[in-house]
Amino acid sequence: MKHIPSLQRPVSQARILAALRQAREDWHNPSDVLTRLARRLSTTLSLETQLGILAEELADIVPFDSLHYRHRIAREDFVFATGLGGQHRCEYRLNLEGVSYGVLTLYRRKKFADEELEGVETILGTAICPLRNACQYITIEKASLTDALTGIPNKRALDEALLRSSQLSDRHSDEYSLVLCDLDHFKSVNDNHGHVVGDHLLQMAAECLERSVRTSDSVYRFGGEEFAVLLPHTGEQGAKDVAERIREAITGIVVDCGDAKLSVTTSCGVAMHLKGEAPGQWLARADDALYQAKRQGRNCTRVFAAIR
Ligand code: GH3
Ligand code: MG
Ligand code: MG
Repeated sequence: MKHIPSLQRPVSQARILAALRQAREDWHNPSDVLTRLARRLSTTLSLETQLGILAEELADIVPFDSLHYRHRIAREDFVFATGLGGQHRCEYRLNLEGVSYGVLTLYRRKKFADEELEGVETILGTAICPLRNACQYITIEKASLTDALTGIPNKRALDEALLRSSQLSDRHSDEYSLVLCDLDHFKSVNDNHGHVVGDHLLQMAAECLERSVRTSDSVYRFGGEEFAVLLPHTGEQGAKDVAERIREAITGIVVDCGDAKLSVTTSCGVAMHLKGEAPGQWLARADDALYQAKRQGRNCTRVFAAIR
């Protein structure tokens, strides 16, 4: 066996440790802008925060008056702007491996010089991968809150919204109501016409619900053939009126099955949030009202009257 002098290992380990310490020091206090930019961007997946960091670092290299970024992500427009004005502009389409990650525009009163444009391009070259990750994060987050069949928010989104609404309702003594809608005898739709027709009907029901409420209200697919509607600034009577409007609109859905026309009805349960009530209790009361509607003949609305 080869003899290793006892001094050799500690010396080389010390060198490695020193190199690591230096690398750590350089990582935390980088002397060049690109390393600093990459490090700062890697600390967040928020596209908004990343664009703020990018604007700060970019301004050190190429002064500008305003920066605009826009991108359509998960069927929504994402817009970021910082600063004001400037009649000269340079615009960059941010593409990576054939996929677009938005358009970034810098505005300035003074024309941009060629060297400055080269500087912007170098900075954007470093930023593009983290920006791609942040865009993809938004897409994935949106998908995790969206129902795949109908494209409307799912149960997870409802849970988050119920918690937020309960807190707002308590804090501002504002009225918030919840309507649960469960399509009647939906199993027989599948049994008699097949799942494809059933799925189509669910998509039409989701569209119908969204058309029947105000833009400040939100519609969720709560379960298989169950939907929830959250109504801010709405008391018991107002929510009951909305539920009745929804119920009537659902009866207007007609699916042409060739030899027959298929329609559907819904039962609705309504509950207004009570002060201090947990989201789960609120949901349970709306579900209780829905159960009453089912028991009392279906195609009707029942309200869980608040005890005051
Ligand atoms: P009720 O009036 O008591 O609500 O009767 P129902 O038949 O609507 O209720 P039940 O709970 O017995 O059955 C719900 C049916 O909804 C069963 C299931 O096949 C159907 N369903 C749930 N999710 C989907 C879906 O994604 N697509 C289709 N096509 N059908 C679904
Ligand atoms: Mg059901
Ligand atoms: Mg049902």
